[in-house]
This record gives sequence, structure tokens and C-alpha cells, in this order.
Amino acid sequence: MDLHLKDKVYVVTGGSRGIGKAIVRTLTDEGARVAIVDKSAESIKTLPESGQKGKFFKADLTSSPACQEVMEQIILEFGQVDGLINNAGSNDNIGLESGTPEKFLASLTNNAGHYYFMAHYALPHLKKTRGTIVNIGSKTSVTGQGNTSGYVAAKGAILSLTREWAVELLPYHIRVNAVIPAEVSTPLYESWLKSFSDPQEKLKSVSKKIPLEHRLTKPEEIADAVAFLLSDRSSHTTGQWMFVDGGYTHLDRAIS
Ligand code: NAP
Repeated sequence: MDLHLKDKVYVVTGGSRGIGKAIVRTLTDEGARVAIVDKSAESIKTLPESGQKGKFFKADLTSSPACQEVMEQIILEFGQVDGLINNAGSNDNIGLESGTPEKFLASLTNNAGHYYFMAHYALPHLKKTRGTIVNIGSKTSVTGQGNTSGYVAAKGAILSLTREWAVELLPYHIRVNAVIPAEVSTPLYESWLKSFSDPQEKLKSVSKKIPLEHRLTKPEEIADAVAFLLSDRSSHTTGQWMFVDGGYTHLDRAIS
């Protein structure tokens, strides 16, 4: 199936590692041009060697002026934006007991603030292209996880904003959807596993509970769903929350 992404311009936040890196690869493989926005320049290594187009923009997304500046740089470089993939985030363990009010608010900014900042600054450009937005959420916002109030509150806000923006942007033909991972093998996930005394045992016990094939989701499987939602192959899909998780969130746990 041709997704018609050739020469379109997509902005991927957190594109240096994990899920974001897989999204960058998938989109460039489809012939798109990609602006990779991240704190870390590691993404230079993520660009395929086949001459496909991508450019790294260094920014700490917790700052709204930094988001504005990076969007201006992207327009100077590419001249247009056809889609925004809000993906950067980190599960930062700011719990109700273990956290503080200040850390809670900082976690909201680090995990949800820049989804708004980037969408706000991308909007004038998305209006011109009838572009799309895909927000990466987390199953923790519908299941809870424990000891991570900031992250879960942010991810809940992201699902609500997906619905809210889908409505607000109807007049501009801009579609907004969310992809919701559960357990994906990435650097973020690796560091979470390392917080347990026996990471291999924890990995085994989580994998056992994933109904489809008893394995973690691959970052590329998230990226494929994102590419579909960005493309005109999903031209009448908006405001949706797509769980790409091997059935982890919704299927009966008694089957595992
Ligand atoms: P990851 O491996 O840590 O990659 C995220 C990238 O985003 C990193 O390069 C990180 O840089 C960057 N980043 C984070 N905050 C940033 C900021 N404020 N400014 C600029 N760059 C920033 O994470 P991942 O596992 O791929 O997760 C990607 C998304 O999927 C996140 O929104 C996460 O909540 C969601 N998710 C992941 C899983 C999973 O199982 N992996 C499950 C559910 C949801 P640094 O490393 O330097 O901080």
C-alpha cells in the first residue's frame, strides 16, 4: 500500500531514541523528510545512509520559547510541515508519596506541556497543508501504574487533548489521533526494567502477561501505526486512541 508520504515533512519529538527513532526510520523509508527534535544528538546516527532526508534539531522541549524557536528553524529548513508527532516523554516516578508538588508540576511540563507548545507553534503551518497530528500516549493513563502521578496525569491529558484538538481543528481538515503503547522495548523501558532487583525475571513476567505472542511490542510496530495515521489512508479517522499493545490493556487477563 502506498501511504503517499513521499516528500512530506514530519516533525518527530524525541526522535533520537526508542519509539521516536523507529518513527523517523519508517517515515524516511517511506520517502518523507523528517525534522528530528531531541535533547540528544544521538539521532544523527539514526538517519538511514541511503540519502533519505532528515535533519536534527537540538532542543529541550520543556521550554516553550525553545519549541517556538525550533519550529521556526524547521520552517526555514523545510518550508512546510505536514505532520507533528508528539512523542518525547519519560516515566519519571513522581509519586503521590515519593514526589513533591513542584516535581509533579515539572513532570506535567516535561510530559504534556510540550505536546501543547509544539502543536501551538506548528498549527499555522499545519493549516496550510491540512496536516495531521499524532500524539503518543501510554496505557498507564487508563490502567494506572503506581508511584508515577506526574507521568500518568500528563498521559491522561494527552488523550483528552487528542479529542479536544480533533474537534477544534475540524474546520481546518486537520486530523488528530493518539497511539497508545504499553510495553515497548526501548532505552526508556530498559532503564525501567533496571529499577527491579532482577530485570530479566521482571521482563519474563511482563512478557507472559501480553496476550498476543507473549512478547514486548517492537518500536517499529508503533511506528507503522503512526505512519498509517499520518497518511491519507486514514483520511476519515480523527480523535481516535489506537492501542498498539498485543492486547495488553483490553483483553481478559485470565487468558494470559
Ligand atoms: P526513550 O527511549 O527514552 O526516548 C525518548 C527520547 O525523547 C529520548 O531521546 C529523550 O532524550 C527525548 N526526550 C525526552 N524528554 C525530552 C525533552 N523534554 N526535550 C527533548 N527531548 C526529550 O522513550 P520511548 O520508550 O521511546 O518513549 C517514547 C514515548 O512513548 C514516550 O512518550 C513514552 O511515554 C511513550 N511510551 C513508551 C512505552 C514503552 O514501553 N517504551 C510505553 C508507553 C508509552 P533523553 O533520553 O536525553 O531524555
